[in-house]
Amino acid sequence: MTLSFSSLGLSAARVSHLQSLGYHEPTAIQSEAIPHLLSGRDLIGQAQTGTGKTAAFSLPILEQVDANAPMVQALVLTPTRELAIQVCQAMRSYRLQGRPKVLAVYGGQAIERQQEQLQRGAQVVVGTPGRILDLLNRRLLSLQQLSWLVLDEADEMLNMGFIQDVEKTLSQAPADRQTVFFSATMAPEVRELATKFLHSPVTVTIQAPKASPKQIQQVSYLVPRGWTNVRALQPILELED
Ligand code: AMP
Repeated sequence: MTLSFSSLGLSAARVSHLQSLGYHEPTAIQSEAIPHLLSGRDLIGQAQTGTGKTAAFSLPILEQVDANAPMVQALVLTPTRELAIQVCQAMRSYRLQGRPKVLAVYGGQAIERQQEQLQRGAQVVVGTPGRILDLLNRRLLSLQQLSWLVLDEADEMLNMGFIQDVEKTLSQAPADRQTVFFSATMAPEVRELATKFLHSPVTVTIQAPKASPKQIQQVSYLVPRGWTNVRALQPILELED
């Protein structure tokens, strides 16, 4: 059965904005997860990249965040800075009239710059566990008013050894927050973490999207020292079909 975005409980303005982005129908994970998330349930989503999982957790948050309140209300943890940037960009694109403020913070970028941006006020922060914990420890970020906490690619986060940083961060958020885990696999470590930090979660499982990894060809190129990613990618994009 195909549902429409408006039947999931999203506002008319959001639905019309999604249409303008070319999102005419929700994906399976969006149809299943968005109503639960709008109703305040904790959720475990087993879904891979390509299923539309980012919008599944982002849209309910963007609908409910108070853009007039200056404090951080939603935190999304991602295993890598690339994913943090990608999720931040996606969330920004789903906003109405450029609100709320969504900020990406990650290691490798000057912490002073992120401090400045946080001080100017952001309602949604997307970041990698190490940098988030660093900001918390330096009291540059507070989770006291947090209502939503999302772990994106939870299995990757645990594989990369972020378990302690993630646990410390989860422990600092208010107990009555809504917590969401997304993970491609349900490794025992992910389940364990979920048992510890989620309250009667609903579980939503989505099959891998049609573009199966088998159809993806992997190639590596040696790039001269000093080339930027964009410079290295450009000739490849021009040459490849
Ligand atoms: P994700 O799994 O979150 O990485 O999303 C995969 C891709 O699907 C992204 O390029 C999204 O912009 C796109 N996408 C997500 N939801 C929809 C939708 N309902 N309709 C069309 N495209 C979508």
